[in-house]
Amino acid sequence: MYSSDHFNFLAETSDDRGTTQAELRFLRSVVSQLPSGVTVQDEHGRFLLVNDAAALQLGAAANSVDVVSSPQLDGRRDGCRELLARGRTVISEEKVTSTLGAQTLLTAHRPLRIGDRHVLLSSSADITEQKEFEDQLFRAAYYDELTGLPMRRVVEHRANHLVRRGDIDGRFALAFLDLDNFKYINDYYGHATGDALLIEFAKRIGRDLRETDLLSRISGDEFLLLLHPIDRAEEVAEFLQDMLNRLNAPFFIDGAEVFASASVGVSLFPEHGASYDMLRHNADLAMYRVKNGGKGAMAFFSSAMEHEALARMKVEQSLRSAILEKRFCCAFQTKVDIRTEEIKGIEALVRLRDNEGVIQAPGSFINLAVELGLIDELTHLVLDEIVKSIDLINETFGHSATISINVAAKQASNLDFMRPFARALENTGFPKRFMVEVTEDAFVTRSQFQDEIVPLLREIGVAISIDDFGIGYSSLSALADITADEIKIDRSFITDIHKRPRSQGILRAIESLSEALGMTVIAEGIESFEELAYLQAATKIRYAQGYYFSRPIFLEELKPVTPLASEARMSLASRAVQENRQSYARTSQYRR
Ligand code: C2E
Ligand code: MG
Ligand code: MG
Repeated sequence: MYSSDHFNFLAETSDDRGTTQAELRFLRSVVSQLPSGVTVQDEHGRFLLVNDAAALQLGAAANSVDVVSSPQLDGRRDGCRELLARGRTVISEEKVTSTLGAQTLLTAHRPLRIGDRHVLLSSSADITEQKEFEDQLFRAAYYDELTGLPMRRVVEHRANHLVRRGDIDGRFALAFLDLDNFKYINDYYGHATGDALLIEFAKRIGRDLRETDLLSRISGDEFLLLLHPIDRAEEVAEFLQDMLNRLNAPFFIDGAEVFASASVGVSLFPEHGASYDMLRHNADLAMYRVKNGGKGAMAFFSSAMEHEALARMKVEQSLRSAILEKRFCCAFQTKVDIRTEEIKGIEALVRLRDNEGVIQAPGSFINLAVELGLIDELTHLVLDEIVKSIDLINETFGHSATISINVAAKQASNLDFMRPFARALENTGFPKRFMVEVTEDAFVTRSQFQDEIVPLLREIGVAISIDDFGIGYSSLSALADITADEIKIDRSFITDIHKRPRSQGILRAIESLSEALGMTVIAEGIESFEELAYLQAATKIRYAQGYYFSRPIFLEELKPVTPLASEARMSLASRAVQENRQSYARTSQYRR
């Protein structure tokens, strides 16, 4: 592929060096077949030489480079004079499209003097593959694969840039968005739907953004939205509220109608922080506040939130130190046969002794312990205490009383916790005495609990109870798929049951379903004689638990000074029941 000019050009130079025609042909053929694209242009940009690879890269047909026009060739012609004028080698990247498709070329343009001619020698290597690989690496480093959105470091870089610039137009808002209940959606619909939802969710958030705004996905169900430039906080609030409203409409995924919402916390630069980290932290605090409220809303950061966070941190610290120092103990509450008044079993309820020695009920720390990942250790501590006190438990409640132990739903479907826990139950030597109480959430979600963990417990003879039934996410029909031994009807149904026909109806339905499925029913939270009388007269429910019979008690309080004769044992237990019943309205010695 040489124009007539090249031939002369090569012929001239060859003559100068005394090259033979054979050598010339040889050289020509080598140059022509070099894998790199080689061109030589004169000072007017005309091509003196274009080898085969260059002809392909530049979209030129053989022998016609100077008459053919292609964007690449034209570009080279136009740029030639300037490149020659620079007088040194210039390396550039070119994107070209030819019959070979889109390519990226790395080209070295080198001005040369050959004889009396001033020429530009350009040599191009095809770096398409390498470039694609680099692009892939770049995308993997900066872009989220699922949604195609930039990742955290992009928004971080952008925010820090704006902070550094600090000019008048630099005001921006950083909104931290977290999808509500995404775990449930994932568990219930499966991960494929969860992923599809995230994609659609990202699209809906991204709608109506300006070129200068930036949306990024920073982890699973968390997004950061940088809004820049902004003027007033009210504008930001209005914009985000519109976005939240948009998110409220159902998502249609694989034929399913999925409802989702997001909790949003917002911080503003410069008011709420002088760095990305600070702004992000404060937006996070604001989001946390929304999560703990009703969810599906937005809040701006305020300094009060910082104080709250500090207070929370204090509770966290005290919980951690309580676990470290094993400042826990168990209170036991009886499960009573309401027909015979015998004690069927007991439930261990954990208590914490705080830094000041005050006993705290689990309502104040269980959720936090779950959140902080401390709950597993806590559950093992409860089991340890039961094992330590087993003689006293037997003496007080009898050798056949079942021992119920609460396990949080999150733990219940976690094999890494449940396997060793089941082993620990087995190692007590009396696993058949134990009953694990789990809230219904563990059964409903498509988790491992029903399939893998229930059999694990069954194998060692540990019974399973569904705690707080009726207030979770499951429906009555879900009961049919659950294989548990006991179902505990939540206190909210039992309170004033004698006066509430709707709760009575629900109770009857649960009762007959449980009977059909062979599950024992137990009513939680009996506080009054009327409630008990209703259960006894109007239902077949056999077991109940509640302050009416006994508040949770510490074993030491029942510890007799001298060991009891076995006949005295039951009378002690029933005395406890009796005393509780009588002193229900008064302050009981067992009141906790
Ligand atoms: P739960 O398992 O449903 O336990 C029953 C709760 O209701 C206990 O509260 C008990 O003291 C209270 N209660 C019992 N009878 C009555 C009554 O007649 N009226 C009223 N108002 N309340 C009654 P507690 O001990 O504060 O425990 C609260 C929850 O904390 C428990 O609910 C359980 O879900 C959780 N919990 C307790 N111990 C543990 C534990 O070791 N591990 C885990 N994961 N959770 C625990
Ligand atoms: Mg329980
Ligand atoms: Mg309960």
